Amino acid sequence: MKIGILGAMEEEITPLLDTLGEFEEIKYANNSYYLAHYKNHELILAYSKIGKVNSTLSTAVMIEKFKAEKLLFTGVAGAFNPKLNIGDLLCATSLVQYDLDITAFGHPLGFVPGNEIFIKTDEKLNQIAQKVANELGKKLEFGIIATGDEFICDESKKAKIREIFQADACEMEGASVALTCATLNVPCFILRAISDKAGEKAEFDFDEFVVNSAKISAEFVLKMCDYL
Ligand code: SAH
Repeated sequence: MKIGILGAMEEEITPLLDTLGEFEEIKYANNSYYLAHYKNHELILAYSKIGKVNSTLSTAVMIEKFKAEKLLFTGVAGAFNPKLNIGDLLCATSLVQYDLDITAFGHPLGFVPGNEIFIKTDEKLNQIAQKVANELGKKLEFGIIATGDEFICDESKKAKIREIFQADACEMEGASVALTCATLNVPCFILRAISDKAGEKAEFDFDEFVVNSAKISAEFVLKMCDYL
């Protein structure tokens, strides 16, 4: 099967390229896509660069150009839910663009005509993730991720987004990846390991924990491929 594995930043994909060892780099649309073999699968790996636009583009390229049949996203996120700690794994069951705002016209935050507010990920992939977690003896939480083009490091912004959407974590790519996959009918899985708690000074925690958390998520996603 052709499986797309996408991250946003180099730190999120390097652990996989290191593990796979051999890969071919293809430059396309101002980015690099790495083709590799893993078990019986052909993998397409890339880091999209940060944000909703970059991640939308890379997702579309993986599907339309490289023919990915499933899309697995791996990366880090800021925790909103107090039960999530640094390094914990969160699988998004649904995601929302918290900064999509046409509320001036009476619409709810996160909504535009033609789309749902919450975008669901693939249930089967999420069930496989639970199986992998059981096998590895790892804790895996399931929840809602809020996506927007801002690094959240502010208690009041965090509280507001959590209250409106009951979000468990925030990041900058998940909802756009999930929406692109849903629109193009490709099953989507979004995994994040917590790098910070999105409050005051979250940028310091992020810098300290990004490499390790990114690795935790990447290893899990590669293990998922054993079950596909
Ligand atoms: N240090 C980087 C910028 C990181 S932006 C640089 O200087 O280039 C944060 C990245 O991690 C995004 O890809 C986002 O998806 C995720 N992320 C982790 N914690 C986050 C938070 N608190 N708010 C928003 N995104 C977060």
